[in-house]
Amino acid sequence: MKYLEMKHVKKQFDSLEVLKDISLSVEEGEVTAIIGPSGSGKSTLLRCATMLEEMDDGELYYLGEQAAKSENGRAVYQKPAVLKKMRQYYGLVFQNFNLFPHYSVLKNIIDAPIHVQRRKKDEVGEQAMKLLDQMGLSDKADAYPYQLSGGQQQRVSIARALAMNPKILFFDEPTSALDPELTGEILKVIQELAAMHMTMVIVTHEMEFARKVANHIIFMENGIILEEGTPDEVFSSQNARILSFLGKFK
Ligand code: ADP
Ligand code: MG
Repeated sequence: MKYLEMKHVKKQFDSLEVLKDISLSVEEGEVTAIIGPSGSGKSTLLRCATMLEEMDDGELYYLGEQAAKSENGRAVYQKPAVLKKMRQYYGLVFQNFNLFPHYSVLKNIIDAPIHVQRRKKDEVGEQAMKLLDQMGLSDKADAYPYQLSGGQQQRVSIARALAMNPKILFFDEPTSALDPELTGEILKVIQELAAMHMTMVIVTHEMEFARKVANHIIFMENGIILEEGTPDEVFSSQNARILSFLGKFK
């Protein structure tokens, strides 16, 4: 089943065309890595997929349900109540963690499940403690974000996203704000989620990681998908632009 599908997505900021007719789909259980040079439109694509940004034109589907259709060259979104339900299908992990600084770790995790999903506090609290355990942070439930390392904060934000029981998890450069020695702990968590068949879309500059963990790689450049395929296909591409980009990471 297609968990996410985007068709002919276009987005511009003033006269700058950032996404030029992008189509992609993500199957259940699949890990998709989006790679490509800075400024190629990767974050804008994730922001359109997660409806933080409206597409100018194109179609968006989650689990086969239409979130937006194309009509007369414009994207037309479903009613807010429908979109609200569809937003439950995914979670997003940002580069800069985006934790609430005045909430404890536990409260950061349980707040949205209780107030947005209207779930019972006991049940959510139990799940949160399991997630913290999974993230190796059982002893940090009462800590505040400022008391944690960047890697720990990022693991809390992954736990927070997982507490909503998403079908898909999106990551936008989850390690790029971290010191190199903390990058590995986040990549390991993502790898563990992949082993549990979590469906994920990950924008990353960690090429070795993308190659190892992703089933599908999308190479973006200048608002288009220049090439996509299995890691072996994309990493053995003879496209000059891709060779040059990958060469920088050797
Ligand atoms: P990437 O994540 O691949 O580095 P982005 O999607 O962040 O690329 O940005 C693609 C282009 O769109 C860049 O030229 C960036 O400056 C521009 N851009 C992104 N967001 C905005 C915005 N909100 N307003 C204007 N320009 C933007
Ligand atoms: Mg970006």
